[in-house]
Parts: sequence; structure tokens; C-alpha cells
Amino acid sequence: MGILGLGLIGGSLALDLSQLGYQVLGVSLQTTTCALACQRGAVRVASTDWQLLAGADLIFVCVPLDQTVPSVARLAEFLPEGVVISDVASVKADIVAHCSWPWFVGGHPMAGTAQQGMGAAVQGLFRDRPYVLTPTVMTDPEALISVQMAVQDLGAKLVLTDPVAHDRAVALVSHAPVFVSAALLLAGVQADTELLGLARQLASTGFADTTRIGGGNPELGLLMARHNRAQVLVSLAAYQTQLQKLHQAITEEDWAQVVQALQTSQRVRGEFSPLPPAPPPYPAGPRRAE
Ligand code: NAP
Repeated sequence: MGILGLGLIGGSLALDLSQLGYQVLGVSLQTTTCALACQRGAVRVASTDWQLLAGADLIFVCVPLDQTVPSVARLAEFLPEGVVISDVASVKADIVAHCSWPWFVGGHPMAGTAQQGMGAAVQGLFRDRPYVLTPTVMTDPEALISVQMAVQDLGAKLVLTDPVAHDRAVALVSHAPVFVSAALLLAGVQADTELLGLARQLASTGFADTTRIGGGNPELGLLMARHNRAQVLVSLAAYQTQLQKLHQAITEEDWAQVVQALQTSQRVRGEFSPLPPAPPPYPAGPRRAE
């Protein structure tokens, strides 16, 4: 197995695959990251030299989203025919359309934390979480089977769908919520100084839950908005419509309407995929500030 980009996702994949008995070859940008991956037992060998990956049968490209397509193109310059490449980027249509390697399979594990880098990688991150693969009519069936087997080995819940459907669904449940959560934080800090001081003191678990992803890595949010722009806009418009309806019902003191909306939201919440508790973080690893 090869991993390109030993960060949170690539490092976590490497930890699990090594634990499963695969021989994992890791390539990353910085030698310090490679050293940490070796020290943590995530990889058998790690290097900043991409040629190391010529020895792999299946490579997961785990670099930042906007570097995925150029990285696959660079790998295609020297990999032998038949090596399977899969990516993990959070947007699929744009990436799948631009990766012409015949043994490419688009993928996206629906798992993560608010941290970055090899130091934040955790074992078991993908267990019981959805892992999406987005084959198209161009996808080599044997390449798809190889990636499916690896996903199943990780203990993840395999979901097969097409790239556009993936992007529409993640806009609803992953990308738009980042901006909704960010807007809540931005609205909060508009309060006058005295009120804001008290609000900061009183904020508890409810506020922490609803703002967790809005307080995450700005680069990731920007990449979601740029690369899944059309679908994020559709989801935000749907959200604005619902918020406006609630605003109007409260303005008009239409309490029947308010309670009906909240009863519906309470009922439908359970219909979304239940999340297992997050795995514990790696205790002693250094964290990179990016
Ligand atoms: P990350 O922790 O920042 O890791 C990315 C790693 O890529 C960095 O550690 C960096 O390694 C390496 N890298 C950057 N440029 C490289 C290059 N040119 N060659 C080799 N290695 C390079 O980010 P991440 O959260 O793992 O995200 C990686 C991918 O996973 C993205 O496509 C993202 O969309 C996707 N994803 C993220 C999440 C999430 O919640 N974070 C969830 C699902 C999918 P160095 O340390 O050596 O610089």
C-alpha cells in the first residue's frame, strides 16, 4: 500500500493499514513528517521521494484537496500500468473528471477531526464511518474491487454513488454546515462588548456543539466552497429558506408553527447516520500548526 500525504487522513489510513498487516510505503513533503510516521509505526518506509510509491499496488492520495489532481498526474508519469490510485478528497465531481489514470477510483472517507498533520493521525478513525467510492463508467472494475476490499478491511461502511450525487449530499451534511456554524459564531461576536463578555462566560455544551465545525481549519472550508461551490450554494439557500420561516413564525408569535418545525427537526435528526464516539487522540505526538 502507498500513502501520498502523511497528514491526518493519510497518517490515519497508514496506521490502520499497517496494523492490518499491509506493508505501507509513505511519501510526504517534509522529512520530519516521514520520521514521525516511521516512529509511530504507521509506515514501513517513508520518504520525500515519490519514486518510493512505484513499489505499491494501491496508492491513496491524501494531499490537500487542490493538490489531488496534479498529484495523480505526477504519479501517472512514472507508475507502472495497473497500479490503483484512489484519493480521499471531500469533493468528487471536479476531481474524478480530471483524473485520467485508467486505474483511478474516487473516494472520500466521512471521518476527520479538527486537527491536521501526522501528529493528529489516529488509529480506528474510519471504523463504522461511511466511506464513499464514486466509480463511473470509465472505472476499471478490478481497481474498484481493490479499493473496496481495503475500505472493508478498515471496518468502514462502504457507500457507492456517483460523483455528482456525492457532492450534493456532502454539501447538505458536511460543507454547508461549516458556513452555518461559522455564521453563528460571527453573529455572536457582533454583540456589544458587555453582552459578549457575559455570553462568552455562559457558553456551554450547546454552543460548543453547534459551532465546532465553524471554528475549524479555514483552509478546508475555503476549499469546500471553491470546489463544491454550486452545491454549497444550493444547500445554503435551502437553509436560508428554513431559517426565514422560523424567523417569521417567531415574529408572528405563531407558536403552533414553531413547535411543528421543532418536532419535525427532532424526529428527522435520528434519520441521519448515527455517529460512534470519536477515537481518542494520539497522546504524545507533536502537532503541526498549519
Ligand atoms: P493534512 O492533515 O493537512 O494532511 C495533508 C498532508 O499532505 C500534509 O501532512 C502534508 O505533509 C502532505 N502534503 C502536502 N503537499 C504534499 C505534496 N506535494 N507531496 C506530498 N505530501 C504533501 O490534511 P487532511 O485533513 O489529512 O486532508 C487531506 C485530504 O483529506 C484532503 O483532500 C481533504 O479534503 C481530505 N479529507 C479531510 C478530512 C478532514 O476532516 N480533515 C476528512 C475527509 C477527507 P507534510 O506534513 O509532509 O507537509
